[in-house]
Amino acid sequence: MYWIKRVLFLFFLLWGSISFAQTIEGMRMSQTPSEGVRFVADLDQKAEVKVFRLNNPSRLVMDFSGTRFGQKNTTSTAGFIKGIRTGKPNTNTARIVLDLPNYELTEKHFLLAPQTGTNWRFVLDMDKVGGTKTVATQPSTTTPKTVAKKKIIVLDPGHGGQDPGAISVSGKYEKDLTLKMAKETKVLLEKRGYKVVLTRDKDFYIPLRGRIKKAHEANGDLFISLHADSAKSRSAQGLSIYTISETASDKEAAALAERENKSDILFGMDLSDYQPEVGNILIDIAKKYAMDQSSIYADEVVTQMKKEVKLRQNAHRFAGFVVLKSPNIPSVLLEMGYLSNPQEDKLLQKESYRKKLATALVNAVDSYFKKQS
Ligand SMILES: [Zn+2]
Repeated sequence: MYWIKRVLFLFFLLWGSISFAQTIEGMRMSQTPSEGVRFVADLDQKAEVKVFRLNNPSRLVMDFSGTRFGQKNTTSTAGFIKGIRTGKPNTNTARIVLDLPNYELTEKHFLLAPQTGTNWRFVLDMDKVGGTKTVATQPSTTTPKTVAKKKIIVLDPGHGGQDPGAISVSGKYEKDLTLKMAKETKVLLEKRGYKVVLTRDKDFYIPLRGRIKKAHEANGDLFISLHADSAKSRSAQGLSIYTISETASDKEAAALAERENKSDILFGMDLSDYQPEVGNILIDIAKKYAMDQSSIYADEVVTQMKKEVKLRQNAHRFAGFVVLKSPNIPSVLLEMGYLSNPQEDKLLQKESYRKKLATALVNAVDSYFKKQS
């Protein structure tokens, strides 16, 4: 009958358009000696693969066009890859998605032609940026061990010199408090094996951009700027920690950033003259990475601090502090409390109270880096 022929014809037409030239016959994942991850897909024929990334959460997508999954299309995860999924975004594409960790990764991929006993292989290698490098292939007995690099913490005592910062109800200067706190925190950090660099170790003035520059020259892994706030209302109190954001989390945060940023305007520096040397997408990637990492550290600080001292509500806040604008160093700004509050002023002037704060700050550094490894 004519209509049967017609349907069959359409069927074959449709079948033809969903042509699977290739099959993924298997896949596997393993951790490399450099602590990276290698993903391999076995293919019966050469395939065209599109690799791209998606954010929130961070994922890597591999689209194999004209390809279907064979029998063995599962594998267990390895190293920093915590999840893998397969799917079909359209009828003739096989998609593999890897869940990425929230730090920056490099990635390279290539196709390997068949050798005796193997198929075509699609290989994807990922490594931590700045992570341990693969050591040249040598007999394992002579392979040099990778020596863990000491993490470098840059502590930035706010204000200094002709810029006193806030002045407390008892007449004490913010610049002196931040310097004391920085020196005390330095001792604790060094005891835990960190290298510590202070942006200033005496009472002098540094422009905000100069502080960022010092952090870069020191090759810092983490930047912590120390401050204490002041408010018209004497009842305002509590600690808060800030990370960068173009839009402040509230009016008060915006006003605070303006106050803290003002020292440069007051003391003769033009904020607009600074432009990063590299104006390309790498800066954006680094920025995003540093912003994410800053938030992770800030949340650790909140976790540690709330065991010790009084925090403000929503203690992790966001605002456009100039000093936090490093594109590639995770940076936070700590407002230790209110110098305008008589009780808090009294506490902040006590070494024992500052030690509590410093210990929490250092514990947060520890758990932050532990989560990275
Ligand atoms: Zn300040």
